[in-house]
Amino acid sequence: MKPDFSKGLVPAVIVDNHTEQVLMLAYMNEEAYQKTLETKQTWFYSRSRNELWNKGATSGNFQTVKSIQLDCDQDTLLIRVDPKGPACHTGETSCFFETVMEEDVTRYDPNIFEEVMAEIEDRLKVKVEGSYTNYLFEKGIDKIGKKVIEEAGEVIIAAKNRNKEEVMSEVSDLLYHCFVLMAEQNVSLEDIKAKLTKRFSKKGNHKGERPEIKEW
Ligand code: AMP
Ligand code: ZN
Ligand code: ZN
Ligand code: ZN
Repeated sequence: MKPDFSKGLVPAVIVDNHTEQVLMLAYMNEEAYQKTLETKQTWFYSRSRNELWNKGATSGNFQTVKSIQLDCDQDTLLIRVDPKGPACHTGETSCFFETVMEEDVTRYDPNIFEEVMAEIEDRLKVKVEGSYTNYLFEKGIDKIGKKVIEEAGEVIIAAKNRNKEEVMSEVSDLLYHCFVLMAEQNVSLEDIKAKLTKRFSKKGNHKGERPEIKEW
């Protein structure tokens, strides 16, 4: 399968491979597409400058291509990349930083798990004065384990109280302490994501098995 260039340029949606954040949209002609395949870097056709450009050539913010997908009628590309820096020439991570309207959306950082885990893993390498995470690492697995159990207990109490705010707080505490335990055991978020993906995927080990009816 290849893109249909018969009607002209093909838009390419560029997405961060790790975070799934939509980074930018640009257009490819056949040559840009071929160069993207060959070099595993993004190449586009600039309509204003009337030339091919290799994203990052002047800024250094290259994008390493991890996957290329076509839409149903082969006239749009979805490209997952590992970006070396901001996708936008303004220095923003994504070109889509301007909100025109939004309604009833809960604002949150979609990468917050990754960011929390990255900071925890950092603490393993570099000690920070007064850091609670460092304190837990120094105390070791017994202390970390106790905290996981304690926070799990608090989740249950909050749940029995039917107190949503409290459940949210306690689940957050529990997740953080689980992350510390994972880091101490050299288990990454990617490891857990891969495990869950395998479990829930119909193509995975548990072919069609419904996880909610089996004992974990
Ligand atoms: P770069 O490809 O990052 O080295 O940037 C070179 C030039 O490409 C910039 O000065 C912009 O004109 C253009 N450019 C880079 N990134 C974008 C983008 N995300 N959207 C539109 N134009 C861009
Ligand atoms: Zn289409
Ligand atoms: Zn931009
Ligand atoms: Zn708690």
